[in-house]
Amino acid sequence: MPGCIGSRVLQLTESRRHSYHTQRQIFRARVSVPHTKASSDEAVSVDSLGTESELVFFNSLTRQKEPFKTVEPGVVRFYSCGPTVYDYAHIGNFRAFLTYDVIKRWLIFKGYTVRHVMNLTDVDDKIIARVQREKCSAKELTDRYSNAFFDDLKLLNVIPADHYPRATQHIEHIETFVNGLKKRGYAYERQGSTYFSVSSFSDYGRLAQLDRRQCENASASDSDEYDKDDIRDFALWKTYKPEDGDVYWNNSLGKGRPGWHIECSCMAMEYLGSELDIHAGGIDLVFPHHENEIAQSEALTGKQFASFWLHNGFVNIDNEKMSKSLGNFRTLRDIVKNQDDARAFRYMVVTSQYRSALAFTDKCLKSARSTIKRLNALQKRLREAEGEGGKREMEEIVRSASENFVKGMDDDLNTPRAAAAMFSLVNSAEKMLKAGRIGKDAAMTALECLNDMDKLFGVFYTPELGLAGVSSEEAQDTEAPLQVVQLLEQRVEARKAKDFERADQIRDMIAASGFSVVDTPQGAKLQRVES
Ligand SMILES: [Zn+2]
Repeated sequence: MPGCIGSRVLQLTESRRHSYHTQRQIFRARVSVPHTKASSDEAVSVDSLGTESELVFFNSLTRQKEPFKTVEPGVVRFYSCGPTVYDYAHIGNFRAFLTYDVIKRWLIFKGYTVRHVMNLTDVDDKIIARVQREKCSAKELTDRYSNAFFDDLKLLNVIPADHYPRATQHIEHIETFVNGLKKRGYAYERQGSTYFSVSSFSDYGRLAQLDRRQCENASASDSDEYDKDDIRDFALWKTYKPEDGDVYWNNSLGKGRPGWHIECSCMAMEYLGSELDIHAGGIDLVFPHHENEIAQSEALTGKQFASFWLHNGFVNIDNEKMSKSLGNFRTLRDIVKNQDDARAFRYMVVTSQYRSALAFTDKCLKSARSTIKRLNALQKRLREAEGEGGKREMEEIVRSASENFVKGMDDDLNTPRAAAAMFSLVNSAEKMLKAGRIGKDAAMTALECLNDMDKLFGVFYTPELGLAGVSSEEAQDTEAPLQVVQLLEQRVEARKAKDFERADQIRDMIAASGFSVVDTPQGAKLQRVES
């Protein structure tokens, strides 16, 4: 039922981020420590399984697996396309959001600092059409669905992005971006709209691997603009039409609103700079959206916009592609009725290989639910284990499972293989419990490994349902990205130390991230600043 789910499960605190690193060390130590008394040679050979250089991603740009590298060592600049907030997101969208979560969790696990930005499209044809139907303001509509979106992300235990910029908050940046393209000869104006001139950008079509004719055919289907020079050209700024109502801005580009593609390029650069390490999105965004993002970004900066392009596959429902027109469209709220459903959905998605199509059926969800129950039961029995025995055997099982887990994940996030590694541990632990061969120590070893693996899968949590009554102030509090929360903590420290100059500087940094600090009798709180 719409509006009934939400949670505050995910308050990612510094201690939590810390525990990732600590756990990673434990996990890697386990992978790298040979199970028998080994020579140092053997230790080196095992250790090489888990090094950062091993991580490869399938890069859509080159259509091959490539070793992962970042522009700045140790830091990943990660942009992913977010939702258009005019309705509840469907489970195909959530597959993308969970894929981003897996990418991010694995990079954090590997020791990277991940700077993640995901946009919210809050100005768009669909939004305008819906606003007219519902006779509400665009802000009312997009606030309603962005709040629902954040609730759903929490329900699914998704680590929040550092920023969720909205297109309407970046109109000035978009204006500057488009004027920059005009100045460089990549954009032109026709009847009040500004278009990107595709023929001026010689690399166009590289990501989608389409030639000129294919681009024309693909562009023709979604084009309702007849006054542009080339059918492939796309709108950077759309001139005002009466049906846009009060959704418009007046600036040097004229009265109108931004096109969709420009917002991602603009906001990605605004928060992460002109060279991204990873840009991710659903496979349906490759053309034209991502192709256009590359064209306009690289035309402006002359630099490669993103090194790695990662795309997740579709969700099929009962063997058909999910779509509104086929009437087999499901939102998260249609399928999640209780806590187990939320965890089961998460499990089902994160253990499927992200590039393959995901076949969603009620049977699959049911099977994921029983897997979750099985994991819960095992955890409980391991926690209750008493006595001695099985330690050496368990250490060997855990070592081998960890090794396979890391190898799987490093191979373009092969989560089915990682899940199989986890289940080799689960099966063995269940057998040993049945045979009465697990003592307290062995049980702890198994539990610790399961918890480590769950740093990736993220299914051991308690989703909170029915929190629609959370006040907006509280909800805004929980939406604050980790780095803003950290800034708040630093400001508290600075004030304690009576370093008011530093405290003011930090307050300005918080303000730059779209939050204000409210001092209350209970302490300082963060509040999102309404634009
Ligand atoms: Zn995008």
